Amino acid sequence: MSSSSSLPATDSPLITAMIAPAQVLRGAGAIAQAGDAIARFGQRPLVIGGDRTLKVIKPFLNPVLKQHSLQAQPASYGADCSETGLATLKEAIAQHQADFIIGVGGGKALDAAKLVAYQCQLPIVTMPTSAATCAAWTALSNVYSDVGAFQYDVGLPRCPDLLVLDYDVVQTAPRRTLVAGIGDALAKWYEASVSSGHSQQTLVIAAVQQARVLRDILLQKAVAALDNPGSETWRDVVDATVLMAGVIGGMGGAQCRTVAAHAVHNGLTQLPECHDSLHGEKVAYGILVQLRLEEMVAGNRLASAARQQLSQFYRQIGLPETLQDLGLADIRLSDLYRAAEFACRPGSDIHHLPFPVTPEQVVAAMVSTQAPTLVAAANLSFEGAAHPSQPPSPTVITDLEVDA
Ligand SMILES: [Zn+2]
Repeated sequence: MSSSSSLPATDSPLITAMIAPAQVLRGAGAIAQAGDAIARFGQRPLVIGGDRTLKVIKPFLNPVLKQHSLQAQPASYGADCSETGLATLKEAIAQHQADFIIGVGGGKALDAAKLVAYQCQLPIVTMPTSAATCAAWTALSNVYSDVGAFQYDVGLPRCPDLLVLDYDVVQTAPRRTLVAGIGDALAKWYEASVSSGHSQQTLVIAAVQQARVLRDILLQKAVAALDNPGSETWRDVVDATVLMAGVIGGMGGAQCRTVAAHAVHNGLTQLPECHDSLHGEKVAYGILVQLRLEEMVAGNRLASAARQQLSQFYRQIGLPETLQDLGLADIRLSDLYRAAEFACRPGSDIHHLPFPVTPEQVVAAMVSTQAPTLVAAANLSFEGAAHPSQPPSPTVITDLEVDA
């Protein structure tokens, strides 16, 4: 097929799609059945995880390693996915003469494992031990300082070679991790519809619409899932946060960007007081800040309605709505301003908002996530809630009501 066209290309002519891992195995007991798929990558895996997750994975993974005579060596990624931690991991790879990497854990361990595998040009297998993020799926790693302050993200040339999602392992994680994963996955819609809602590109349109379906699945099923760990509904929600959120990131690619919710997260990580809250918790709060900005700066009434609806949902499942909920009740204004300044630094994703914002406005939004809303949300369905420019779509779930 010739690519000749009378229309000029608006972007770089070459788009690299990194949509999905080469292989995904999921199910209860998935790791026990993944031996052949794992062993084809080599004989000497370095198993990268956190201290807790390496312990958790042992009874699941060791029998498989033994059965296939793999010479595995565990390695802790340290306190964070930081340049110091990555350097230590590289040494561990060299010392063990590892020929592939198995990443085990939540977001940070998997980010570290993916990035170091890429830097050392080794195959990478990911095994999420919680449903807190979609890091097991994506071709992206976030790099933090040694004390957990977000520094930058790195786009990787491909998604992992193999993802093994074992529900039995994920079920060992605290409830809070799934709640956080729900918050992180919800952000896909609120951010993608703002940054890419007007795109005419097929894959981007597809990604944005999938983000809406993802949001609806979460709003419908999260409460039941959290009440019944291990149930079919629980698995549906785990699939949503670990797999579907990853699909959207992969399909939308660089065109489907994060916006203020993640920029606020990145700002909050600059505050040591905030390190006890999980990525998805900060992002969930960041969604409310973003909606508040859309209300305050752009007068978006539907953003106000969306905020009211989300607040109710957050209360139901335990996502943070306020600085107080994030453990920042006593935060000094100067520290808050520092976080807001970081969120607004040049190149920050907050500038994907369709209007300019200042740190002062971000601070004002951060302290007012529970402000009275402009409109009563009771009569609005979620369809297109925050972003009226979205055309109606053939979404699988259409008439969602989370209002009491
Ligand atoms: Zn995230």
